[in-house]
Amino acid sequence: MAARLYYNDSYTSEFNARVLERLNVDGQPALVLDGTYFYPASGGQPADSGTINGTPVVDLRTRDEDGAVLHLLAQDVLGETVNCCVDWGRRFDHMQHHTGQHILTQAFVQVADAHTVGFHLSPDSVTIDLNKTNLSAEIVAQAEDLANRIVWDNRPVTAQLVAEDEAADVRMRKKPGHLLTGGLRVIEIEGFDKTACGGTHVARTGEIGVIKVLKLERRGDKTRVEFRCGGRALRDYQQKNAIVNAVVATLTCKADEIEPAVLRLQDEIRNLSRSLKAANAQLIEYEADRLLHEASQEKGIRIVRRSYDGREASDLKLLASRLVEQPKVVALLGSSGDKAQLVLGRSADLPFDMNAIIRQALPLLGQARGGGPPALAQGGGVQASAEQVQAALDAAEQALKV
Ligand SMILES: [Zn+2]
Repeated sequence: MAARLYYNDSYTSEFNARVLERLNVDGQPALVLDGTYFYPASGGQPADSGTINGTPVVDLRTRDEDGAVLHLLAQDVLGETVNCCVDWGRRFDHMQHHTGQHILTQAFVQVADAHTVGFHLSPDSVTIDLNKTNLSAEIVAQAEDLANRIVWDNRPVTAQLVAEDEAADVRMRKKPGHLLTGGLRVIEIEGFDKTACGGTHVARTGEIGVIKVLKLERRGDKTRVEFRCGGRALRDYQQKNAIVNAVVATLTCKADEIEPAVLRLQDEIRNLSRSLKAANAQLIEYEADRLLHEASQEKGIRIVRRSYDGREASDLKLLASRLVEQPKVVALLGSSGDKAQLVLGRSADLPFDMNAIIRQALPLLGQARGGGPPALAQGGGVQASAEQVQAALDAAEQALKV
């Protein structure tokens, strides 16, 4: 079986290897090498990327039967010996986060007796799941502080093979069968943590730089903790700092005044929209008065017929309601535009069924739908021209006379 050289050395990113086997995996050419520093996905850590003889490695898998690492390639490469390059930026990011995870996990054990039951690492997010809920902000800050003290202690991180019966003090999420070749692979952070793990880690904790918890999310009886280490934590800080600076410039306040400033703005908006609504209702009342004065009369019934362009449906409805508060009034209102509307209403002392009438008029606006009680029906929501709205109001007016 090909040796997994990264078990003893996470830092080599360029190496030569002899090709032991050439095969085809899911239509993709693949190689087995006599030894590899490429890491195949396992234990929550994604696979490496990189190249072999300049050809991209598209995936790395472990063969079930013998544990061999299969290097899947974008295309075939020639030669008995090949030159391999592991993408170091991606690998180092994984090393920082994998070691950071061991430290944060142990910190939550010590501070809150909360144990890690899941780990996820992808380009967009890094999380651990804890078997506890309702962790206070103080507890989280304590765990974060402890984790970063361990980082700044710059403690050695070592990998050792330990006999399984001597591994009583080693943390294991589940029994790692694949780590049991010649003993259990145990990662030790000096004086702090021992965990059975097959991943790649930094040699000293200082290389992690910083461990920052971003947020907690409750998931049933567990808590998902999202965090970032090293380069990702720095990029996150840069991004958030840029956002804070932009917001501070817009609101002309200090960073620690952003929250009260936004709450104040929300309050103002609520008050303004309340006054605007009241003023609008008053305006519509005046408008209704004027329209009633100008209305044509037929057999003692005042018919108010108006069409607008781009007027809000809520406005039309309010106007129609005001109009038909008076006796013997019919309101035929329409608005053209992206969301054309018809609102047809009549006073309580008139017999017309506006719901039946709107169902005759709406097809003239296209696929419009709507309806309502006999006294006030409304519909539309589709794009329609001023001509279409006029035609629909014509149809409605005709229907009154039948
Ligand atoms: Zn690990």
